[in-house]
Amino acid sequence: MKVLFATSELADYAKAGGLGEVSAGLPRALQRRGVDVRVLLPAYSEVIAKVSDIVVVTHLSGRAGIQPCSICEARTIDGLVVYLVLEPSLYQRAGSPYAGPEGRDWPDNDLRFARLSLAAAEIAAGRAGMNWQPDVLHVNDWPGGLAPAYLRWQGARVPTVLTIHNIAYQGLCDRERVGTLGIPESAFHINGVEFHDRVSFLKAGLFYADHVSTVSPTYAREITTEALGAGLHGLTRDIAAEGRLSGIVNGIDESWDPSRDPHLPHHFEADDLSGKQANADVVRTGLCLRHSDGPLFGVVSRLVHQKGLDIIADTARDIVREGGQIAMLGLGDPDTEHMLSRLARSHRDDIGLLIGYNEPMARRIVAASDFCLMPSRFEPCGLTQMQAQRYGALPIAHRTGGLADTIEDGETGFLFSDLSGEGLLGACRRAFGVFDDADVLAEMRQAAMARSFHWSAAAAEYELLYSQLIGRRVPQATAAPARRTAVAAELQAAA
Ligand code: ADP
Repeated sequence: MKVLFATSELADYAKAGGLGEVSAGLPRALQRRGVDVRVLLPAYSEVIAKVSDIVVVTHLSGRAGIQPCSICEARTIDGLVVYLVLEPSLYQRAGSPYAGPEGRDWPDNDLRFARLSLAAAEIAAGRAGMNWQPDVLHVNDWPGGLAPAYLRWQGARVPTVLTIHNIAYQGLCDRERVGTLGIPESAFHINGVEFHDRVSFLKAGLFYADHVSTVSPTYAREITTEALGAGLHGLTRDIAAEGRLSGIVNGIDESWDPSRDPHLPHHFEADDLSGKQANADVVRTGLCLRHSDGPLFGVVSRLVHQKGLDIIADTARDIVREGGQIAMLGLGDPDTEHMLSRLARSHRDDIGLLIGYNEPMARRIVAASDFCLMPSRFEPCGLTQMQAQRYGALPIAHRTGGLADTIEDGETGFLFSDLSGEGLLGACRRAFGVFDDADVLAEMRQAAMARSFHWSAAAAEYELLYSQLIGRRVPQATAAPARRTAVAAELQAAA
């Protein structure tokens, strides 16, 4: 089976969030199952700087206002084939995949990701002059959204999967861009790419892809609701009713292993947690917190509204009053940074804050923490709560999306439904109770650390999905258990 996995981030080279980690983990896990999966990624400056051997394999012509480009082949150290969309005027700039150094989105993001989508469609349709053509095209989030549409407009019948990692980001641009992006006028329609008189890349993907997946079964149901469907719930409901919407939980990288993570000052295992305590001492010292025998609550997060940091701020004083301390690491919107800075300054001995993106520090804080706070307003899947369980830091999380699907309330963490300071504090009080009972704490940590969250389970489910789309059956022995949730059936049952 051959799969082209088109993405705007790949952790090996360029990453802005969880998508980069998924793009690094899932294709490799599929490869281990024997799938010939190749990644398609824009050749950002940081990618060019990191890859050693690049070979040009073909040139693609432009269309409408979309520039021509080259497709180059590179390989990661462990042999994953990465096709790079090379067009310096679009991708060679300082900044993240989506924004300049000052954090503002690039004004030509529509062209940048239309180019990625069009390249994906041309390779998938076998029109790229390459000696490789996939059986399935798998695209991710709005940057890949136009690819299933371009394929359909070309009349090509290659099965397509769109995975939504976060429906809140939709890739909107003005209707005047229809011609520039090579979109047929007739497709600027409610049954097409139009969303409230604008072009929506994500809507295009939803409308034209053969199958839509999200990164957890609960989030798959949530995006069919008005509350969390970001205005697209009508369409997602239809897709669900047709049996074309499902949820597959992400995995985490195997390097999240507390017994061998090179970033940890002290290693530990479920049956010997002395190293965990030693890591807590290192983190407390590093953040200038006072010595304490109370619980340490960790926060590792993008600092955005979604993550509920305001709810943490509402609860922090009570956590400290009850004997807890908080170690925070994050980067994001300046208002949230200022709010957390003020909070940390007013509790210098008990609340520490590091602003920045620092993976070694993220791992140390998670390894040091007794509990991790995740009061996300919504969370399509979430990786931090899985990483935290592996490291014996019991997550305290809002019962939403992937948090609800990956935390066993009262066994491997704590879930709360009332999204407020009160709700979070109630869950924290349960955590304080467990912290005071050494036997229960040990039991919960053992249960949390025993969970693997390997990518292999997700890869088996995606392989089954691809096989169904191309009408091929995988041998029974390698088929995934039927864990993928058919949202349609659940919606019908609920009705
Ligand atoms: P999202 O993709 O919405 O940011 P996830 O929980 O799915 O949230 O993934 C976040 C990933 O990014 C986790 O691996 C987490 O450890 C990492 N991360 C988030 N913020 C930081 C940070 N400031 N420094 C280092 N790693 C971070």
